[in-house]
Amino acid sequence: MRALICGAGIAGLTLAWHLERDGWDVKIVERAPRFRHGGYMIDFYGPGMEVAKQMGIRPRLLATQYPIDEVDYVNGEGRRTSGVTFTGVLGDGLNVMREDLAQALHDEVRSPIVYSTSIESIRRHADSVAVRLTDGTREEVDLLVGADGAHSRVRELTFGPEEHFVRYLGRQTAAYTLKDEELHREIGMRFRSLTVPGLMVAAYSQRDDGLAVLFLRQEPDPRLPDDIVAELTRHYGHLGWILPKVLSLRPPASEIYYDQVNQVEMDEWSKGRVVLIGDACQAVSLFAGYGASLAMAGAWVLADELRGAGRHVPGALTRYHARMAGPVAEIQRFGRQSLEWVAPGTRGRIVARDMFMRLMNLPGANRLMVAPLATAGKGLIKPHSAPLIDQTGRA
Ligand SMILES: Cc1cc2nc3c(=O)[nH]c(=O)nc-3n(C[C@H](O)[C@H](O)[C@H](O)COP(=O)(O)OP(=O)(O)OC[C@H]3O[C@@H](n4cnc5c(N)ncnc54)[C@H](O)[C@@H]3O)c2cc1C
Repeated sequence: MRALICGAGIAGLTLAWHLERDGWDVKIVERAPRFRHGGYMIDFYGPGMEVAKQMGIRPRLLATQYPIDEVDYVNGEGRRTSGVTFTGVLGDGLNVMREDLAQALHDEVRSPIVYSTSIESIRRHADSVAVRLTDGTREEVDLLVGADGAHSRVRELTFGPEEHFVRYLGRQTAAYTLKDEELHREIGMRFRSLTVPGLMVAAYSQRDDGLAVLFLRQEPDPRLPDDIVAELTRHYGHLGWILPKVLSLRPPASEIYYDQVNQVEMDEWSKGRVVLIGDACQAVSLFAGYGASLAMAGAWVLADELRGAGRHVPGALTRYHARMAGPVAEIQRFGRQSLEWVAPGTRGRIVARDMFMRLMNLPGANRLMVAPLATAGKGLIKPHSAPLIDQTGRA
């Protein structure tokens, strides 16, 4: 059986890993010219961690994790106004950079990844899918998977335009990393965040004098700016704190992650033998902080349903959606409720957030913050009675 996966992100790589070991012949196409670095820090726990354990990559994640268990809110002078400690809240979860998780997955995948390539057109047949790639080649496969993120091309070609499925949450986000010894020392191993009405900036230190920065801005217009560097400078340049230096040391625009904050909601995730996974069909947004975990869970559940389905692929795709839909809706609801806490729109809300954070420091209270997520997706990932073995006998 042949599968073509569009998108070498968290979901696509996880699915490739599982299908390879189940004997599928897998090919991945990725629009970017090379493996994509960059992104932000992930709270990685829940079903994604269960999948990571089964794949054997948890030790590698432990080696690259950042032990961040404190969030400090600061003002324009860098003075702390409130904060919360998270020690133990993630259970066996951890904080890891998105790129370290993606790299750990990438290094375990054996299937070819064809970079600078996407999907030009799709023709669905009863027993196969005919695909024309942007490099001019054609593929005839048993399964086509759209793992190409919130702005999925496979979704557009199969289900229609983005605006039917994407719910814009009124925010735009950016993230990048830089190197600076002084900033690294000043921020330390804490998540430090500055919030003014409608704007949020967070910074946290990384290995080797690195600093990761995350920006979040309220913006009613979903259109992305043409010049993201000018946009960042215009909105954040006057905020004080470490911003002037952080902006002057930014990488080139091509290395800055910049996107709308979106959720993707769809009633069906497959048509015939074309299926979507990850953000393409279930984006929960950074407010839920669960996107990567859920992307890995979705890939796992899809592989689980395909196992044993033989040629009855469409039925397996329908069952995969039925298993995922409930947890995804629950986490999306949580994400929308968190909006005003993560990036308050008014001064009053910022004051309320600071008061709430002080309460969260009472013994055990901080667990309440992740309580809705602690149960969501529980039971999605069944334990394997034996290690996953591929056809070549390798675990
Ligand atoms: C470099 C990078 C940085 C990120 N940083 C953040 C961040 O700071 N904050 C945040 O909330 N989320 C961020 N995300 C999104 C986050 O990683 C996802 O929400 C989550 O991991 C779900 O994974 P996914 O595999 O569905 O999507 P993604 O991890 O987004 O992967 C999708 C992959 O598909 C590829 N792709 C897209 N379109 C096409 C196409 N037409 N043809 C072929 N390939 C295509 C992309 O290049 C990407 O490699 C980032 C994603 C990337 C790729």
